Amino acid sequence: MNAFAPSLETIERLVSPERPVSAFVHDLDELDRHARQLVSALPPEVDFFYAIKANNDALILKTLAPIVAGFEVASVGEIRKVREAVGSGARIIMGGPARTATDFEAVIDHAVERVHIESIHLLHLAEAVAAAQNVTLSILLRINLTGPVPGATITMGGKPTQFGIDEGEIDEAISTLVACPHLRCEGFHLHTVSNNLDATAHADFCLEALRRARRIADRHGLDLRIVNLGGGWGVDYADIDRLFDFERLATRLRSVIEPDGPRIQFECGRIMVAYCAVYVSEVVDVKTNHGEAFALLRGGSHHFRLPSAWRHRHPFRVVEREKWPWKWPRRGHANRCVTVTGELCTPKDVLLCAEPFSRLRIGDLVCFLLAGAYGWDISHHDFLSNAHPERIFLPIRQAQGHLSKVEGKGEI
Ligand SMILES: *Cc1c(COP(=O)(O)O)cnc(C)c1O
Repeated sequence: MNAFAPSLETIERLVSPERPVSAFVHDLDELDRHARQLVSALPPEVDFFYAIKANNDALILKTLAPIVAGFEVASVGEIRKVREAVGSGARIIMGGPARTATDFEAVIDHAVERVHIESIHLLHLAEAVAAAQNVTLSILLRINLTGPVPGATITMGGKPTQFGIDEGEIDEAISTLVACPHLRCEGFHLHTVSNNLDATAHADFCLEALRRARRIADRHGLDLRIVNLGGGWGVDYADIDRLFDFERLATRLRSVIEPDGPRIQFECGRIMVAYCAVYVSEVVDVKTNHGEAFALLRGGSHHFRLPSAWRHRHPFRVVEREKWPWKWPRRGHANRCVTVTGELCTPKDVLLCAEPFSRLRIGDLVCFLLAGAYGWDISHHDFLSNAHPERIFLPIRQAQGHLSKVEGKGEI
């Protein structure tokens, strides 16, 4: 079992006893173990970066810093978060589609190692900023591959999207480099697939992307030093024990790595942090309306937007609690389908849709597993201005400084 799933005793030891439970709980030891397992599977020619948009908490970045090659960021704010959490020594690479001159200035100011360029206009803009400061910027060209791309199911590329330079325009982009003496193009970036559950299909995609990168470089006599194959290693929310087969991907990569070939980079977010956290929330009311059963949580999609954003069934556990402090009888649902919603005044605030429960009562906890990636970080925290969840990081001793910063948090 890879998923962190704390017991009732652990949850009750950690959360504030004074109000209904609403918390993200992270296990940093589990994150450390999982990250080492992923990174150590890869051949030495491969660098594994962490894409911080999945979860940019400082304690997550600090935990990963000694394990990963560096951090992939997509904004100046993310550059600052890395620098503040792990200092000036961390390697940073930057991507993202809608760059401005300010972004390229920040790349220079914060010593970002390399920036991924997504259009011909942005090549000119990066050159102008670098020339004005008389520095050289290392870049990769992000290619939006001409489809069909083998192994690419949910894609950012291989189909019309706002990302990257169309493969049909890549010759023009490389010709533009002649007019950009302050840019050093070291290769290509091909983040194309999101949440790929099939490691064999992902390996097919990676090998094809490497072939195309090699072909384009050869056509232009470009010294191909780096091919970044993006992120997209999947997390199976429907089968939490089935881990993406990264060993298989690594084996396929080993079969094509040449000693004098380019360095290969990955920049994964989801697979790195999904498993290490839960979002746990207390049922604060139950009701039946128009024949359908509902349970309402202290929290909702403003804390944990992933299930509604992806419209998927998110894995969860019910953590039953016997404590009942009130004089009136405790209400609940038994042996029926219940829709679990949050506290927002919108019918869209649904976390679980008509899910069968043997029992779910006011005061029980619903614990969403695999909540570490794209959970808190993609949610609209201040819509309706409800109190934020507690954000708790185990092991507790290491995390104490952080805990004390959480507003209203009592002593543990
Ligand atoms: C989001 C993103 C990633 C990380 O993707 P995961 O699916 O979380 O691994 C990597 N690179 C780019 C360019 C991205 O936009």
